[in-house]
Amino acid sequence: MKDRIQEKLNAAETKIEAACRRSGRERQSVKLIAVSKTKPVSMLQEAYDLGCRDFGENKVQELVEKYDRLPKDIRWHMIGHLQRNKVKYIVDKVYMIHSVDSLRLAEEISKEAVKKNVTVSVLVEVNVADEASKFGVSAAEAPALVEQIAKLPHILVKGLMTIAPYVDDPEENRLYFAKLKQIYVDIIHKSIDNVCMEELSMGMTGDYEVAIEEGATYIRVGTGIFGERRYEVL
Ligand SMILES: *Cc1c(COP(=O)(O)O)cnc(C)c1O
Repeated sequence: MKDRIQEKLNAAETKIEAACRRSGRERQSVKLIAVSKTKPVSMLQEAYDLGCRDFGENKVQELVEKYDRLPKDIRWHMIGHLQRNKVKYIVDKVYMIHSVDSLRLAEEISKEAVKKNVTVSVLVEVNVADEASKFGVSAAEAPALVEQIAKLPHILVKGLMTIAPYVDDPEENRLYFAKLKQIYVDIIHKSIDNVCMEELSMGMTGDYEVAIEEGATYIRVGTGIFGERRYEVL
């Protein structure tokens, strides 16, 4: 299994480097998050042994269980929809929450972060393609939400995240990645106090090369590292 993960990581690395070269970017400007949801701890440990330190999970309970059982220098990224009543379980365990999509959720994160005396880095999730099935604020709402969150204590807005539509041809998502980048640049130009926009979390296994070309700083890759997910085993 470790050989398979190694092979997939090598293949991903080659593609990431090529996308960086095509777009004139430094390799270090793109960080790879190994999306390990539904995968057993043994596979995460293998990826860790191969050098992965950023892992993405989308369920609170699963993240907490894996956090307890794996090395403490892992940076855990919460990438799934987060319910307010579960925030307290993860504020002191996550490196970044990618899925903040309301002021009420941000307020809860802030409140729990104050209690535990930690500062939580977050991204605002934007539904750029305006899909009914997706979480995230609209492009129009994003700047105001960033501005409101920036006023809360113990929470830092570091950038934006989007989950692009599921498509066969990744080129179809290029405009959505470009749009997220544009919203990000517009927010930077507002120079809002306490906002340090530096991260764009966009691109998954099927479309991360296009996302890199459009400016992604975090790509979230699951299948492309760990193989297909079989939800019934969990
Ligand atoms: C599952 C998931 C991913 C990874 O998806 P793959 O297509 O397997 O790379 C990325 N981002 C989010 C938010 C996810 O839920």
